[in-house]
Amino acid sequence: MAQLFHPVMYDPATPLQSHWEASGGDMVSGCEPVAGDLECDVAIIGGGFTGLSAALHLVRDGGLSVRVLEAVAPGWGASGRNGGHCCFGGAGLDAPTIAKEFGEDVARHNIATQREAIELVRDLAATNDLDIDMQGNGSLCVAHTTKARAELDDTAAMWKRLGGFDCELLSREAFCERGFTAPHVHGGMDFPFGFGLHPLKYARELARLAQRHGAVIHGKSMVTGWQRENGRHRLTTAGGSVRAGKVLIATNGFTRDELHPAVDGALLPAISEIVATRPLTPDELEAHRWRAQAPLYDTRPMFAYFRLLPDNRLHMGGAGGMTGTPASKERWKSFLTQRIATMFPEWRNVEIEYCWRGLLCQSADRLTHVGEVADDPGVYYSLAYHGNGVAMATWSGRAVAGLISGRGNANLPATMTRPLPRFPIPALRKMRIYKRYGWRFIQDKLGM
Ligand SMILES: Cc1cc2nc3c(=O)[nH]c(=O)nc-3n(C[C@H](O)[C@H](O)[C@H](O)COP(=O)(O)OP(=O)(O)OC[C@H]3O[C@@H](n4cnc5c(N)ncnc54)[C@H](O)[C@@H]3O)c2cc1C
Repeated sequence: MAQLFHPVMYDPATPLQSHWEASGGDMVSGCEPVAGDLECDVAIIGGGFTGLSAALHLVRDGGLSVRVLEAVAPGWGASGRNGGHCCFGGAGLDAPTIAKEFGEDVARHNIATQREAIELVRDLAATNDLDIDMQGNGSLCVAHTTKARAELDDTAAMWKRLGGFDCELLSREAFCERGFTAPHVHGGMDFPFGFGLHPLKYARELARLAQRHGAVIHGKSMVTGWQRENGRHRLTTAGGSVRAGKVLIATNGFTRDELHPAVDGALLPAISEIVATRPLTPDELEAHRWRAQAPLYDTRPMFAYFRLLPDNRLHMGGAGGMTGTPASKERWKSFLTQRIATMFPEWRNVEIEYCWRGLLCQSADRLTHVGEVADDPGVYYSLAYHGNGVAMATWSGRAVAGLISGRGNANLPATMTRPLPRFPIPALRKMRIYKRYGWRFIQDKLGM
């Protein structure tokens, strides 16, 4: 099964209409398509955070020659379209489940990795003067019921026990002082790690940084064929081919099953959709006493993530449906518009100026996977961040670069090193999305 969603989800000719594109500045220059027959030590398929971070660390720290083969342009995938919440995440399993399955030491290692991933992005930006519109400190969770607020006590206790850090629990009044005022606010939690950024600017700045260190990035170079020749790999694109000793698969939610047997039936892309309002006026902001600079999320069953950007636009993202048809984009746009009206009644008539979507990526065992294909040495992958890859894809790209060059210390938690499993019945893998969202949708409608 080559594509799980409607062809428009994969078509570079379909305009994205994202606010990030409109505000992301210049495209990365020097990304010529592959032409003729080229050589390198490492070929990377996919030019998002994973591929670009791997490229940077391979050339800068590993001293290898690297070519990134990107089907469209750096950041065209999820990396240039996401919510820009540089936050905890990676696995689809929560920390207590990881502790149960792998033991508490592994859970602690996994949590430490998530903290390190956020710091890696912060450090890359600071050290290299990346222009990526960093904003806020930490992240704020808003409880939509008193029950949800009470459950945050357990969440904070869990982070203290497994992560060793404090999350500040907030009463309704304390939340309103720090976040915003609205009818459905029942308190919240201030999580101490994370920040917001402009994801397309970040992807492009990462690409430029990798280029400055010697990586070659080819845009409009979709890999359509893969042959073995005398122990090397030949990747074919429309304009020519690249021969490499090693190959990294960094295609995440845009991976096609037929790319390599290791990914065939192993990944489950899912759609997430985002809307952006026009800039809110000072009076409109005051109507909800908006204070938050940090990224936010809420406890509703149909989870929403949102931020107020530096130019005072409200961004809100959430699920994006099961099909990817143009009509489904409109339906989920209505859902998010209605969510804004429910959460922020004073803004219910504010125009939505942008709406776009993209594909995130899950694995069968709900874990991020970084490693070398067991029965095809020299082929590596770094995949499946379960909708939280801004920090984790950057970190995993660096980790897989360490594995490829043999020079870096990857320090991978045991959650990431299991072989990438296939879905038991790949043709039915989308059923997981129906199962997850079906029940949540009903709970949401019932106001639970
Ligand atoms: C709408 C949305 C909102 C999100 N919000 C957040 C958020 O706020 N915070 C967060 O942490 N994470 C978020 N995520 C997830 C995050 O964006 C991803 O986890 C991350 O960008 C993955 O990076 P990547 O480089 O692995 O993959 P991608 O950025 O998807 O890049 C894969 C690239 O591979 C290319 N490609 C595919 N096949 C081929 C081929 N055969 N040949 C050449 N190139 C190919 C594609 O063109 C694409 O550019 C969100 C995702 C979406 C879709």
